[in-house]
Amino acid sequence: MFGNSRALLLDTGATADAAQFPLRATVDSIMTGWLAAHPTPGYGLLVAHTHGHGDHIAGDGQFADRPDTEVVGAGVAAVRAFFGFDDDGVPVRVDLGVRALEAIHTPGHQDAAITLFDPWTGWLLTGDTVCRGRLYVEDMTAFTASLDRMVALARARRVSSVLGSHIEMTARRGRDYPAGTLFQPDEPPLQMSVDQLAEVCAAAHAVASRPGAHVFDHFIIFNGPCRAAFRRQRMRRLANRMRGR
Ligand SMILES: [Zn+2]
Repeated sequence: MFGNSRALLLDTGATADAAQFPLRATVDSIMTGWLAAHPTPGYGLLVAHTHGHGDHIAGDGQFADRPDTEVVGAGVAAVRAFFGFDDDGVPVRVDLGVRALEAIHTPGHQDAAITLFDPWTGWLLTGDTVCRGRLYVEDMTAFTASLDRMVALARARRVSSVLGSHIEMTARRGRDYPAGTLFQPDEPPLQMSVDQLAEVCAAAHAVASRPGAHVFDHFIIFNGPCRAAFRRQRMRRLANRMRGR
């Protein structure tokens, strides 16, 4: 996302190796193209993360020596310090120059998770906290409180789409592709509505005191370790592999 003084790269993917996954080269080429059209001396790059899980931060090292670049640390202390979150949950401005995003701290899936609202596109970027897939909850009390704040923010802004980080559901209601699936010809779109975000919030409150995997039409809430559900995931993945999928 480009502002007038810097761009934001949100998440760096699951692969560190620049030869396999040339994220830095890709970002540099996009920024070079943009800067040719909008010459801006000292134009910066901010690299931040929806949360600190390995599949969202692995490419960070590719930006370590990049000039005019700030990489926000992946841990919760670094995230809180960078954004200046305090405990009142009031959204914090992330100014890219004219384009100012709003960030809130939304722990629960992971303690360093954030949600960003971009008024330019109307996107609410929710990471793994809310997406069309398996919502793994590490801390249910934090998760429901975060969802309450996300719904409040979404209702108070003009949100065009709620965008999470993964698609794991199939087109069939309540049916996911098992973890590890690489070919998903029948997946629904990434974007979700504010009403669907509110559904996630209501569902999380409803299952908060019941450990296990809880299936809903557009998402599945994994409350706690969910060993039986993970066993089923592995069996389904194995069965698909044997069928050549
Ligand atoms: Zn995650």
